[in-house]
Amino acid sequence: MPSDSALRIVWIYPDLLSTYGDQGNVLVLEQRAQRRGIATETVHVRSADPVPETGDIYLIGGGEDRPQILAAERLRRDGGLRSAIGRGAAMLAVCAGYQIMGSTFGGEEGQPVDGLGLLDIASSRGPARAVGELVAEVDSALGLPTLTGFENHMGVTRLGPGARPLSRTIKGVGNGDGFEGCYAGHVVGTYLHGPALARNPALADLLLGWIVGELAPLDDTRYEQLRQERLGAVLSA
Ligand code: GLN
Repeated sequence: MPSDSALRIVWIYPDLLSTYGDQGNVLVLEQRAQRRGIATETVHVRSADPVPETGDIYLIGGGEDRPQILAAERLRRDGGLRSAIGRGAAMLAVCAGYQIMGSTFGGEEGQPVDGLGLLDIASSRGPARAVGELVAEVDSALGLPTLTGFENHMGVTRLGPGARPLSRTIKGVGNGDGFEGCYAGHVVGTYLHGPALARNPALADLLLGWIVGELAPLDDTRYEQLRQERLGAVLSA
């Protein structure tokens, strides 16, 4: 990122995909950048509008099956996100948004629907809806603390060799194979809501660090209180 320009955050399709307060991920990223003196510029891209190719960090949220299918069609046609990821932009994709990043996902009747193929994953409808709190240990290569959040999805996700699991599930379902989420390059996919970055500010810093480099530490007392309350409640249940 050039030092004289603002960090460009792109929030994709708030009119279709933004369940369970996923838009909070945008706020957390903005705040964590600004608290370090990094200016931010956020674009909310509605589904009728083109996705800019020049963003630094892209965010997409969860949604119901129909808006998910519509979003996948429009993003495929648009091509902006593909170009941005191709030139190294970072991305956090949540739930429906996560599934859309793969080659295929399950539609309303379980029919396979084409995704963007930006992550080497394939999703389909699972045996039962996964609803509840999730706790998972992050891949040690990323050096992040335990993930906390909640999930609500029908889909299960299979990873191909081009994607690494983001974390190993301790509580909850995640991908449905003992792991939760995945990452490849600067793209992170997860089933976590919460919002994910409010529950896991280290994940926000992972994305920021990929773009701006080394980050000054922040006082995260309040995030930590939320995390400990949630982790305590879930792990003692
Ligand atoms: N429609 C998808 C599923 O049920 C995603 C749900 C969501 O984003 N919460 O798997």
